[in-house]
Amino acid sequence: MSNIPASDYLETLYEGYGQRFRMEKLLHEVRTEHQHLVIFENPRMGRVMALDGVIQTTEADEFIYHEMLTHVPILAHGTAKRVLIIGGGDGGMLREVAKHRSVEHITMVEIDGTVVDMCKEFLPNHSKGAFDDPRLNLVIDDGMRFVATTTEKFDVIISDSTDPIGPGEVLFSENFYQACHRCLNEGGILVTQNGTPFMQIEEVKTTAGRLRSLFPDWHFYQAAVPTYIGGAMTFAWGATNTAYRKLSRETLQQRFSGSGIVTRYYNPEIHIGAFALPQYVLQAVGKPSND
Ligand code: SAM
Repeated sequence: MSNIPASDYLETLYEGYGQRFRMEKLLHEVRTEHQHLVIFENPRMGRVMALDGVIQTTEADEFIYHEMLTHVPILAHGTAKRVLIIGGGDGGMLREVAKHRSVEHITMVEIDGTVVDMCKEFLPNHSKGAFDDPRLNLVIDDGMRFVATTTEKFDVIISDSTDPIGPGEVLFSENFYQACHRCLNEGGILVTQNGTPFMQIEEVKTTAGRLRSLFPDWHFYQAAVPTYIGGAMTFAWGATNTAYRKLSRETLQQRFSGSGIVTRYYNPEIHIGAFALPQYVLQAVGKPSND
């Protein structure tokens, strides 16, 4: 007999291990054309969204993830004008990209329009009006189809996808990374959500094997996001310019200060430190510790 109240939400990403949220209030639940969506209120994490049983984002800790997947590549690039977001239906990634006044054009390709609509309504603090940004071109489509067929080029591509199950699976494929590489301008950078290596080391290994043959500089960087359980989350990095991962603190500080952006997690020291990986991750991807 389970002693878990019926009002709790149990994440089902991992067999035999997971997190549980008290659902103080169920705000919305629907089976969309692509996935099961639920948004609820939790006393500690604020409003929470899950897709197909996996926690996607919470009001309390989303800033860590969204700041690290946007400011790291955009400030490392230095002159990014065209940014592509794949996924990101909750609008948090878009909000952070839009803070960069130097960015002139943002394309966001989200497969599920219901996620956008429900997050606009029930998670307004994520997008904070960014969906009305005149620089935005919102495309409701499969990100794989978009990068395989578009003639547009981008300076930064951010894959903000679900895990490699269901509609998100294709966004971890060789074809996807190849197509992203094709869509990058000279000096372009691809970054992707790549799971928590302590729990998903095979995902990191697979991505490493696919980026290795495509990008002159490939690596990973990390940040601990409390509700992406199992330790720090890895973000894959694929850059066409090998210098962009090794910028000086002074250069990053100058660019960060010049952006005028106020953050709650990102700063130049965190940027630099995030690329330092634990030994077990380096061994999994076949890299020396001084790379
Ligand atoms: N922060 C979350 C994480 O790390 O797992 C991701 C959040 S965001 C809500 C994930 C988005 O990816 C969802 O809105 C989902 O609909 C979208 N998505 C999944 N597969 C996709 C695909 N093939 N093309 C475009 N968007 C996709």
